[in-house]
Amino acid sequence: MEQSELKQNSAKDNSADTMTNINLDRALCRIAHIHKGIVEVLRYPKRVISVTFPIEMDDGSVQIFKGCRVVHNRTLGPGKGGIRFHPDVDLNEVSALAALMTWKCALIEVPFGGAKGAVICDPKKLSSHELRRITRRFISELGDNIGPYIDIPSPDLYTNEQTMSWVFDTYDVMHSGNNNRAVVTGKPVALGGSVGRREATGRGVCYAARHFIGKHMVPGLSNLNGATVAIQGFGNVGAVVAEQMHCMGAKIIALSDSQGGIIDKEGLNLAEVAAYKREHGSLIGLPGTMSTTNDALLEVDCDILVPAALSHQICAHNAEQIKAKLVVEAANGPITPEGDRILAGKGIQVLPDILANAGGVTVSYFEWVQNLENQQWELDEVNEKLLKKMNKAVDVSVERLKSLTAEEGEQSEDGHAYPLDLRTAALIIALDKLVAVTSQRGIWP
Ligand code: GLU
Repeated sequence: MEQSELKQNSAKDNSADTMTNINLDRALCRIAHIHKGIVEVLRYPKRVISVTFPIEMDDGSVQIFKGCRVVHNRTLGPGKGGIRFHPDVDLNEVSALAALMTWKCALIEVPFGGAKGAVICDPKKLSSHELRRITRRFISELGDNIGPYIDIPSPDLYTNEQTMSWVFDTYDVMHSGNNNRAVVTGKPVALGGSVGRREATGRGVCYAARHFIGKHMVPGLSNLNGATVAIQGFGNVGAVVAEQMHCMGAKIIALSDSQGGIIDKEGLNLAEVAAYKREHGSLIGLPGTMSTTNDALLEVDCDILVPAALSHQICAHNAEQIKAKLVVEAANGPITPEGDRILAGKGIQVLPDILANAGGVTVSYFEWVQNLENQQWELDEVNEKLLKKMNKAVDVSVERLKSLTAEEGEQSEDGHAYPLDLRTAALIIALDKLVAVTSQRGIWP
């Protein structure tokens, strides 16, 4: 993708890469001891591959598609991150998302660097055959730039187990004679996927939120029992968050998909919601519910708000209207730095993306380990290990936030442009680790 051709996404305060840099600066200004030169390395992607390729469409016409794969950093291990199919995706955004993966992997302690890939296309307008040809051609264009120890893709926006099967098959055909399963995660279980991977991001979101609330970090909310929840997005992540939060005792009062949302203050019946969505292709119109827009859903009066769809949803123009006590970032980058500032001013807690949605890459790591060892773990084992990882990441982030808050309290002047929050604390943990390991490895040559 050419930068000049970039279609501006709906970035409401900042573009995705600006957001990454602002968040990086928010962390850096609070860690005096860190090696600034090494940190500078982390502002730039290590490797960017842009590809353009033709695809024969079902009607016999030929269309050109553009895609990219960005490896942001490989200090802790091979690149790791999703491939998304979206009409509005751009290279800046993919680079920013790759950086988020670097922070996420460092924080959750899986031995990977950060990466992300995308193909500009509208999957809703493509047939399954066309999607297969796009996936195969994209993966063949990437060639040996992906691999079990090089860069390992996974599902992301509008890609799924089927897409990952095609990724695997293409790579396997190109590298016959090896156990290639670990080249991609999020595969169907029969093809070496991990049980629990499909639900892992949503489940991790709920584990993190429950643990965070249990640590009395959210004023006025001491557990999930009876807590009211609004979720923006009813895809793979949002639907699992709804189901898991419900199982943990919460009341799901609002849900949305790309066409809009529904509200029922008494609590939505999730089985009815899923059946209605299956039948009508949308949530809107479910009897007994009030229709709403995706924007208005964010402003619903609830205890917990879970943006589980797109980035840049809570920003300067709407953060003041948010009424939740806790916002849990199930999506990547749903709150802009300005949004963070306003939410903090209102006393609203935020569980940041690199912590809250790290369950996906965590179980991707479990899948990778199982593939390399030709093992298949049981669901209980996967979920137990996931729970431990999520709880530990919450614990260390909260501890770090507390120690940073105490340090800041001792300093006479507070000249920081942004308040100290959990996003900053979690990012500082990741940066500390990345800088320490970069120093241990040494700058080559
Ligand atoms: N695409 C997911 C994310 O943004 C998962 C990445 C992975 O499993 O590698 O975290």
